[in-house]
Amino acid sequence: MSIPTGSQPNTATPLNQLQLTCHYRQLPDHHYQSLAPSPLNNPWLVSVNHDVAQKLGLDLSSLNPQELAEFACGQKLFKGSKPLAMKYTGHQFGVYNPQLGDGRGLLLGEHLGPDGILRDIHLKGAGKTAYSRFGDGRAVLRSSIREYLASAAMAGLGIPTTEALCIVGSTDTVLREGLHQPCATLLRVTPCHIRFGHFEHLYHNRKFDELTQLTNYVIHRYFPKSVETDNPPLALIREVILRNATLIAHWQAYGFVHGVMNTDNMSIIGETFDYGPFQFMDTYKAGQVSNHSDYQGRFAFKRQPDAMQWNLLCLAQCFMPMVSNDEKTAQSLLENEVRHFSKLYQQEYLTLMRQRLGLQIYEQQSVGQQSSVQQRKDADDSQLIEGLWRLLEAQKTDITLFFRLLSEVPAREQQNKLAKICTYPSAFELWLRQYHQRVTEDQQPETERLAKMQKANPVYLLRNHMAQEAIEQAGKGDMTLINELLRVLQNPFSYQ
Ligand code: AMP
Ligand code: MG
Repeated sequence: MSIPTGSQPNTATPLNQLQLTCHYRQLPDHHYQSLAPSPLNNPWLVSVNHDVAQKLGLDLSSLNPQELAEFACGQKLFKGSKPLAMKYTGHQFGVYNPQLGDGRGLLLGEHLGPDGILRDIHLKGAGKTAYSRFGDGRAVLRSSIREYLASAAMAGLGIPTTEALCIVGSTDTVLREGLHQPCATLLRVTPCHIRFGHFEHLYHNRKFDELTQLTNYVIHRYFPKSVETDNPPLALIREVILRNATLIAHWQAYGFVHGVMNTDNMSIIGETFDYGPFQFMDTYKAGQVSNHSDYQGRFAFKRQPDAMQWNLLCLAQCFMPMVSNDEKTAQSLLENEVRHFSKLYQQEYLTLMRQRLGLQIYEQQSVGQQSSVQQRKDADDSQLIEGLWRLLEAQKTDITLFFRLLSEVPAREQQNKLAKICTYPSAFELWLRQYHQRVTEDQQPETERLAKMQKANPVYLLRNHMAQEAIEQAGKGDMTLINELLRVLQNPFSYQ
């Protein structure tokens, strides 16, 4: 399968000239349903993300908001677009559900950006498909704005994520929780829409030839280096595990609760995917649950690494027929890979937290190779980090303000300045003393440390009440706050 790569001429493309292809269509039609979007009526452009437009190589100077709204609500189709709904299944709250798939979104096609990256363009809220079951195929303005802002915030923080080019509003409404809510569409942009559930669909239906076809497609498009190894499917799963360990480490370091970590919402390239009832925590709560239908707290903040490892096991199982002809060998090879998840996650998490605290990052060695000195340093730093989270939780201190204080104020003034952001600054005395001692060991000039920390600790986080306000204003036709939040969240490390 030939997938285009390499850089494109750096010329800006007008919207109506944007040319889409679709390599996913080379897979058997068992993987998708071809269908046109059901457009929204009276579309209007709510907001457009210029950073994403630039990545696609769109000509911003000629961008006509009404024309974009027509493309982004399904009234007009991009050149070459042959939309399709993808079939996938997945484990939801631990139970296998065979009846999933794009129930309210369509893959419009792919576009090769000036940076040489091939990105999918997906229209979320495009109407009913063969996989809608009892759903109406629509997205509402509220959830679309949340996804739009959160994905921009994630990208701003440097956390792997899908992005969104724009949101379109409409006079159409749908019923949600007994209320008529305005419909919206969102144009999702990411190199990859392949979920763990794509593999589960084929494995659990025993379509092993097609499973191999899908795997080859994924290897060629996303993990071409695996081809050079003795066992490409195994190399693929190894890379998926690494990327998702890295992703979860970022969520845990920045207080993000996804809320619906079902395998159909997990991206094979390890991006934050399918924003639903997510939350960025203002204050730390280890047991924070962001999804009100998660009665057992399966996807509580602290459980996210375990949930991801469980999801990876579901995915790894699908690779059984591909990594070895011998079942026992296949099982042991795959289990061995998934077993590495915890270590990979912990290493990445420690690195990120050291960055947030301005602690020297030690050279990481491969799993199982650390020296005893390094192991002790890791254990000490982990203890310091866990101690801090416990304190922040007990004191209900704002996470963003706290880390920013550590990043801006010289060590000797930190204790005094704490009074500005917490009720009982003395609760932090002992921890701060340990922290300052640890920082001294690094022998790094303070100004240098603070400058680095300011690049790891955002000034701005997407706060629930702000998103809510933006949603309410947008509902009244005022886009000022959405656009302001977008701008701020795209550059969260500097004051604006
Ligand atoms: P989610 O909870 O958003 O991950 O969605 C789970 C499944 O329900 C997926 O197969 C979705 O495509 C489908 N789904 C979610 N919302 C709708 C909707 N409004 N209409 C049709 N299908 C939907
Ligand atoms: Mg989903």
